[in-house]
Amino acid sequence: MDKKISNNKKNIGRIIILILPVAAAILLKVYYEPFCALLPKVPECVFHRFGLLCPGCGATRAFLALFWGKVIKSIRLNPAVFLGAVWFALFYIEQIFRLFGKEIKIYPRNKWFYIAAVSLLLVYFILRNIPMFSFLTIA
Ligand SMILES: [Zn+2]
Repeated sequence: MDKKISNNKKNIGRIIILILPVAAAILLKVYYEPFCALLPKVPECVFHRFGLLCPGCGATRAFLALFWGKVIKSIRLNPAVFLGAVWFALFYIEQIFRLFGKEIKIYPRNKWFYIAAVSLLLVYFILRNIPMFSFLTIA
């Protein structure tokens, strides 16, 4: 009996996790203009103030471009956003399968994957601030 209640709680949690991104996407689509009107009020990146680009610079525009299906533009603005979206999609698909009782493992779990990802972000941070790699700056 307790196990059944526990499973129900887990499933409710999983359903909420699955609904949240969809609800957020619907809200963003409905309130896109007011959301964009808020963007100039977001504080400027500390690195950007000093003329540098951090790994996150351009991420908001990249996210919005990806949201509207402009994949190439999104990758051009900040490739980390696209890679993060791929990772999230794999995680999301896995959660959907889990909700319906099927255990699959498709998103990376190896710690070396994440160490490599953070290392790549650091390399990206360095390279996008070197003039020779100006193609990595925000378009
Ligand atoms: Zn930045």
